[in-house]
Amino acid sequence: MFAGKVVLLTGASSGIGAETALHFAKQEAILALVGRNKDNLEKAAKKCEEVSPKKLKPITIIADVNNETDLERVINTTIEQLKQIDVLVNNAGIMTSGSIETTSLEQYDKIMTTNVRAPYYLTMLAVPHLLKTKGNIVNVSSVAGVRSFPNILAYCVSKSALDQFTRCVALELGPKGVRVNAVNPGVVITEIHMRGGMSEKDYEAYIEKCKMTHALGRPGQTEEVASAILFLAGSGASNITGVTLSVDGGRGVMCPR
Ligand code: NDP
Repeated sequence: MFAGKVVLLTGASSGIGAETALHFAKQEAILALVGRNKDNLEKAAKKCEEVSPKKLKPITIIADVNNETDLERVINTTIEQLKQIDVLVNNAGIMTSGSIETTSLEQYDKIMTTNVRAPYYLTMLAVPHLLKTKGNIVNVSSVAGVRSFPNILAYCVSKSALDQFTRCVALELGPKGVRVNAVNPGVVITEIHMRGGMSEKDYEAYIEKCKMTHALGRPGQTEEVASAILFLAGSGASNITGVTLSVDGGRGVMCPR
């Protein structure tokens, strides 16, 4: 379905992004993969090449999405090497725990820069190219954008902002033929929680608790988010824009009783 389409994907070196890259590769997409960890990004690219029906080799761009010059280089390199952009997936993101009493402004700034400012600027830079291809954007948000949770305050604020960004840009670009959507995963098994400071013991308990916190009684898998991203990016979603699609095992509709 994505043969000949150029897909630019951030956070492709790990978790949901690496899995999404594989799904696009299986569908013959031409990939530009962005991450910071060179080894992991190269590994992800190699796997994509292996599963690609025509053994297409992704280009890899080492970049820190918090750095404006890096983001400009991401777009310039993609256009120089691949000539166009059909799909932008803003997936790179970080999580930290903390409340209004414990989150420093420094932590707040870091999370807002990575989770909101970076997709904002990368989208701004990609739009002229997406207008040419009548392409589309998929942002990776979270159930934390839709529902409110204590002790991950900055993360919730950032994902809520990303949801509103998704809807507003969808309205701005809809008349020009560019769709903009988001996926909102519940808990998905990746490295994000422990990278954000959770201990191994707390992570085990957190995953166990998913039996209670998710209607389907389990955390999600990266494949389940990747398939939703491909749906929104593909022609099957040609009349869908401005949507924040929950991929959360029912977490977002649960209420404590
Ligand atoms: P991972 O920690 O496994 O992967 C995060 C990815 O983002 C990595 O590829 C990492 O690159 C990249 N990244 C982070 N910061 C930067 C930066 N400054 N510059 C460039 N790349 C960066 O997490 P997930 O796969 O879980 O997260 C992907 C997205 O999914 C995030 O937006 C997250 O908020 C969202 N999400 C995740 C959920 C979950 O439970 N896992 C639930 C809901 C949403 P590198 O490793 O190379 O540094």
